[in-house]
Amino acid sequence: MKAFYSDHFVLPLPEGHRFPMEKYRLLRERVLAAGLVAPEDLIVPHAATDAEILRVHDPEYLRRVVAGELDRAEARRIGFPWSPAMVERSRRSAGGTVEACRAALEEGAAVNLAGGTHHAFRDRGEGYCVFNDAAIAARAMQAERRVERVVVIDCDVHQGNGTAAIFAEDPTVFTLSIHGRNNFPFHKESSDLDVELPDGTADAEYLAALEAALDRAVPASRADLAIYVSGADPHERDRLGRLKVSREGLLARDRMVFARCRRAGLPVVVVMAGGYNADVAETVAVHLQTVGEAARYAADWRAFAAG
Ligand SMILES: [Zn+2]
Repeated sequence: MKAFYSDHFVLPLPEGHRFPMEKYRLLRERVLAAGLVAPEDLIVPHAATDAEILRVHDPEYLRRVVAGELDRAEARRIGFPWSPAMVERSRRSAGGTVEACRAALEEGAAVNLAGGTHHAFRDRGEGYCVFNDAAIAARAMQAERRVERVVVIDCDVHQGNGTAAIFAEDPTVFTLSIHGRNNFPFHKESSDLDVELPDGTADAEYLAALEAALDRAVPASRADLAIYVSGADPHERDRLGRLKVSREGLLARDRMVFARCRRAGLPVVVVMAGGYNADVAETVAVHLQTVGEAARYAADWRAFAAG
């Protein structure tokens, strides 16, 4: 299975910033150490081009991001200080999801060890998200005539509000978001299917809600490709999550998503999204088990294709 990484495009952050920059490098190291991806299948993606980004984002927004002309309120909403490195990292992260989609369509599954920037809207960013990688990748696959329809399965604990808004009027992309009702963003958008969970939701309730949602969303989407915005932040000790899903519960979540996609014959792209455990190793462990399930999915796909 191919995995795309961009963790060496580090964006400079002030001391004590809450964004867990190091989780991406740690995850790549653990993916390699666990043998989930061969060294030659760990790939640095291209930087998403203007043409790719402009299928989703407003030209004036892109121009101001690139030029460093976001005003203070816009920059505060994103949560990163502007730098050329921020632009490059955001482009690489989106490029990784584009390339992971192409790889998944060939091989059944692929992973972007970044991405999941689902709070980025057409004309603005927020919540550590500058460009919406899943949206850019979905539109790229359509423009390249590789797929007609896409389902975005967003299990990050925060609503995929940017993705929901971008595809609100687009019947070719089905957006499912399962998230904490009381979490950021406080004004929710309308996905094609939203599942709002109360604070403290634990494994059994979480998995039952997800199962019901997948039963509706996957058939309704009639998709040719699934983009799984996995998220480690429903975890019980996540600092931003408010839910109480255990690490084992999150593994069961991953297996449920892959099982439903398998039943529908869907290639799956996995992107990481959030994870804010005080112990970064716990966040990395959750992401790692998701990558493990993706690798298993790709192996099964290969075996099936070989007859
Ligand atoms: Zn999140």
